[in-house]
Amino acid sequence: MTTTDVPVLDHWIGGATSAGTSERTAPVYDPALGEVSKQVRLGSAADVDAAVAAAAKAFTSWGRSSIARRQQVMFNFRELLNARKDELAQILTSEHGKVLTDAAGEIARGLEVVEFACSMPHLTKGGYSLGVSTDVDVFSLKEPLGVVGVISPFNFPAMVPMWFFPIAIATGNCVVLKPSEKDPSAANWMAELMAEAGLPDGVLNVVHGDKEAVDALLAHPEVASISFVGSTPIARYVYEHGTAAGKRVQALGGAKNHMLVLPDADLDLVADAAVNAGFGSAGERCMAISVLVAVDPVGDELIDKIRSRMGGLVTGDGRRGCDMGPLITAEHRDKVAGYLDVAATDGAAVVVDGREATFEGAEDGFWLGPTLIDHVPTTSTVYTDEIFGPVLSVVRVASYEEGVALVNGTPYGNGTAIFTNDGGAARRFMLDAEIGMVGINVPIPVPVAYHSFGGWKASLFGDAKAYGPHGVDFFTREKAVTSRWLDPSHGGINLGFPQHT
Ligand code: NAD
Repeated sequence: MTTTDVPVLDHWIGGATSAGTSERTAPVYDPALGEVSKQVRLGSAADVDAAVAAAAKAFTSWGRSSIARRQQVMFNFRELLNARKDELAQILTSEHGKVLTDAAGEIARGLEVVEFACSMPHLTKGGYSLGVSTDVDVFSLKEPLGVVGVISPFNFPAMVPMWFFPIAIATGNCVVLKPSEKDPSAANWMAELMAEAGLPDGVLNVVHGDKEAVDALLAHPEVASISFVGSTPIARYVYEHGTAAGKRVQALGGAKNHMLVLPDADLDLVADAAVNAGFGSAGERCMAISVLVAVDPVGDELIDKIRSRMGGLVTGDGRRGCDMGPLITAEHRDKVAGYLDVAATDGAAVVVDGREATFEGAEDGFWLGPTLIDHVPTTSTVYTDEIFGPVLSVVRVASYEEGVALVNGTPYGNGTAIFTNDGGAARRFMLDAEIGMVGINVPIPVPVAYHSFGGWKASLFGDAKAYGPHGVDFFTREKAVTSRWLDPSHGGINLGFPQHT
């Protein structure tokens, strides 16, 4: 099959597929086979206009629909997704490359947010103060924003959209989702499932595309907010342009997550955790551990334990029961592999070289095996860059203080973890770490759906994290109503500023 002799994935606008107006498309790969499986449309500003118009039209009734009606759709979606999640997992694996069990895990974490959104009647109750003044009551309402934009990255094609659209929709908003063009099919699949769950046409729209569609969303006067997840440079760009256009913006960026290992930790458990968090999803997770900071004297023993575990990992086609899949594109694989040359030049020691690994899959897949690099200088780009691949760097330090200084010294602040059996040290780290999400003997501390997800510093632009209480606040605006029912005793002229009596 040639790259043009494949199906084309359309947009989903107003409850139906749409070819849109643009002639541009991009290839979507099956990364384990290294083959183009389809083309995806790259939407124009006119396509974004059409999606926003469909959303704005739907908002006139969805924004005023009863809480019970919205809740019913979310419950239906939850049931349907649970019943058909294997289908979605297959889509994720075939376009992203992550192994099927990992794809199932991603869906489960998305489902958590759907379940959280099912409790929206409770979460949007607002407050009521009876008799704040004589015969006067005050109450607060949480109202939807209107049309909201969601822009998602390639690495969680189902979970990241589900961080946002269930909460946005359950609070009465209408959504235009621009998923990653690298693995776009999950977005259409979920939008069609929402329609099956009873969601009216136009409440959830999918416009595929690249910078052109993103820029159109950022500039569109009828789009009230932008929820973005992706790399830090694009997150910064989206935040600056979105806020300049008067929108509410939450833009989650990249990461460089450190795991600090104190000498008293159980090194077998640490090695297990480092391998799982470093190489799961081929390191293409914003909460992956990419730097292991070993406090003297544990470095050598830890390296041995990690290396021996890496020897048992099977890299290959995620549909064949392997531990780790390919990278997302050949270009990205080459970029990640390039850091091995940098490591050698910068004086680091490549302990396990992923370029030498063998793979359970087609030869043309975008392969790079798990890679371990020791003695990484903190001046090297291996240490400073977000590599976003199966590369675990080890840095040795002499003390806890030196380790914390590294954790806090990166421009990112997404996640970090400490491994220790010393409760006092763990508590101290919890407070010392200038990082949005901290794990204590938990290497990937992604908060559950009823807490909020987000980093600090260059990992989050804007004040609102994703989902949880922040998500509800982000997708609503509060209105305070002061009310009284008039009777003759309220009459009379008084030009003074109202005071409570
Ligand atoms: P990316 O920044 O390349 O793309 C993200 C989105 O932005 C995509 O929809 C893409 O089409 C769009 N985009 C790309 N280039 C653009 C441009 N020049 N102008 C406007 N829009 C553009 O990110 P990615 O490679 O898809 O995803 C990986 C990145 O996402 C990593 O940096 C990872 O750490 C980050 N990420 C962060 C979180 C988090 O919660 N902080 C979660 C997942 C992924």
